[in-house]
Formats: sequence, structure tokens, C-alpha cells
Amino acid sequence: MPALPEIPTAFLLEFLTKLLKTPSPTGFSEPAIVFTEQTLGEFPNLKMSRTRKGALVVTLPGAKDEGARAATAHVDTLGAMVKEIKSNGRLKLSRIGGYLWNTVEGEGVTVFTSKNRQVRGTILLNKASSHIFGNEVGEAKRDDDSMEVRLDARTNSELETLDLGVNVGDFVVLDPRVETGAGFIRSRHLDDKAGVAVLVAAVKALADAGLKPSHRTTLLISNYEEVGHGAAAGIPDDVEELLVVDMAAVGEGQNSDEFHASLCVKDSGGPYHHGFSQRLRSLADKKNIPYKVDIYPHYGSDGEAWWNAGGDAAVALIGPGVDASHNYERTHTEALVATTKWVLAWMLGE
Ligand SMILES: [Zn+2]
Repeated sequence: MPALPEIPTAFLLEFLTKLLKTPSPTGFSEPAIVFTEQTLGEFPNLKMSRTRKGALVVTLPGAKDEGARAATAHVDTLGAMVKEIKSNGRLKLSRIGGYLWNTVEGEGVTVFTSKNRQVRGTILLNKASSHIFGNEVGEAKRDDDSMEVRLDARTNSELETLDLGVNVGDFVVLDPRVETGAGFIRSRHLDDKAGVAVLVAAVKALADAGLKPSHRTTLLISNYEEVGHGAAAGIPDDVEELLVVDMAAVGEGQNSDEFHASLCVKDSGGPYHHGFSQRLRSLADKKNIPYKVDIYPHYGSDGEAWWNAGGDAAVALIGPGVDASHNYERTHTEALVATTKWVLAWMLGE
């Protein structure tokens, strides 16, 4: 294997920041898919296409066409849809993806109406003011009925909200609140825009160095992962390995942290492919890539979505450590660089 090419860290961070700011809740991820497609369009020798459900498929020719491989990361994120317009003009939401209400309380949102209008607002408890409700504000259970969106518009009735163009089924996008400093990236939706940025940075690293993967490699930028069926379609039938790049769960009891890449050997869907995982460990050892091995207790991935859909190849999962996942997340540049090196070591390895 040649020496690993230089990691384009500044490019990775700039792409990631822009991607984080591009709305893409599951079902409404087209803007983020287009941005990724345009960025990859700058690099030579890639073949790009879409699946019929809208995911992006990128094929890198390899030194060999046989022994084909694939990698995937997902661009879709948590979000919500308008479930109901209340008689006071505020909105009830239906959540997209697995998160708890307290993790988005107080968050700014944009409602994308079907008439292409955008209306800003905030997710609040329906009894939000402690001057009025006292201890109830702390004690009330956060659920679909007690949480609402207060729109930044003059409305006190269902009719006035309908007049804004807001309706049932409109997508509601959570503010990502991206902030970088001291090497950290703090934002919602690092799951899994960090993984997409890693794959895009790996493509750039290869292009800059004039290298190609050792085998034909297909990248699937998936768009329905958070609801469980992202990579069920879009992986070529002949691949022998699928590398899933998705966030590592950081927290009490976990090995993973924000400064390493992690290899997940087991999650809620059971163990990943042992032989493939072992090879990834030995590649990381050879290339001095800082990594941890971990098990994620409440976690599923697009690798399992593909296996469940009948995918027949070895599947392994790596990714950067993300603190407070499905909440206000954070990772560090070191984890992103380590994961990109690992992807490159795998792409260039036999
Ligand atoms: Zn994810």
C-alpha cells in the first residue's frame, strides 16, 4: 500500500460546516444531496447517479474492477413535520427520527411550507413561562401533546396560521447552531454529516494525490437512514465489503471519545463482520491511526439496513466520536482526520 495521502483538513471542515447548515431532515434532504453532488462534481473520474428514492451513488474506478467495495454515510438528519395546527395558532409536531423532546426544547426552527415560504419559530413547552406556571415548567412531561412551535408571526388562531401558508405535513428543520473553536465542531446533525464529510474528504485526498482505490469503490450518500431503510437500496450487488461511516456513541461507559475514530463491533442489530473488523484494526495499527473499539447500546446503522434488505457482503462500521448524539452534538477535528485516514487506508489496501 502506498503512504496515505495528505488529509485535506481545511477542506473537510469547510465542507462539513456548509453541509451542517444545509437543511436535510429525512424526506427533505434534497438540498444536502445536491450540495454534496456539486462538491464531488469538481473531482475527475467519478461516476455519479441517483437511486430512484434520491440517494447519491458515486463510483470511483479502482486499480482492479473485481473485489468491488462500497462505503456509505447518511446525509439525512432528525427533524419534524407539522402534525396539527392548534386553535391558538401554534403547531403540534410529529418527530422524524429517534430523539427525545427535552433535547430540542427551546430550539429555533424553520417551517418549510408547501408554497416555498419559510416561517421561523421556536420549540417550547406549552406551559413555558415560569412566571405563570411556576414549578409545572420543570415537572411537566415533555411529549407530543405538551410540546409546540411558537411561530414568529402574528397568529392566534388556526385560520391565521393557515393564512401564513403553514399546513399539516410541512417539514420543520431544527437550527443546527454550528460553532467551531479549539478544534471542536459543535452542532446538531454531526450524525452523520461528519461521516459524509469524511467520505468527501477521502475522495479529494485521492484526487489531489493522483491515486485510485485498489478496487472499484462505490460511495452511497444515503437519505433515509434515520428512519431505518437508508442503504436498503443503492449498494451494487457485486460488492464484497460495505464500510459504514457513521458517528461513534460517546458517553459514560463507552470507549469512544471525540479525539479518536471508533470501530463498532456490535450494536442493537448484533455483531458486525468479524474478519472485516479485524482487517480494519490491523490497517489502523499499521498506519498509526488513533482508534477505539466499542459497542453501542441503542444504535442501528445503514449496514444493518442493507443486511436486512438482503445485502450479502462483509459489513463493518467506523466513525468519529460524537458527544451528546441526537442532542446538541460535538466532535473534534482529530476524530474526523483519524476516520478519513482509516477510510483511505481501507480504500488503498488490498
Ligand atoms: Zn447516523
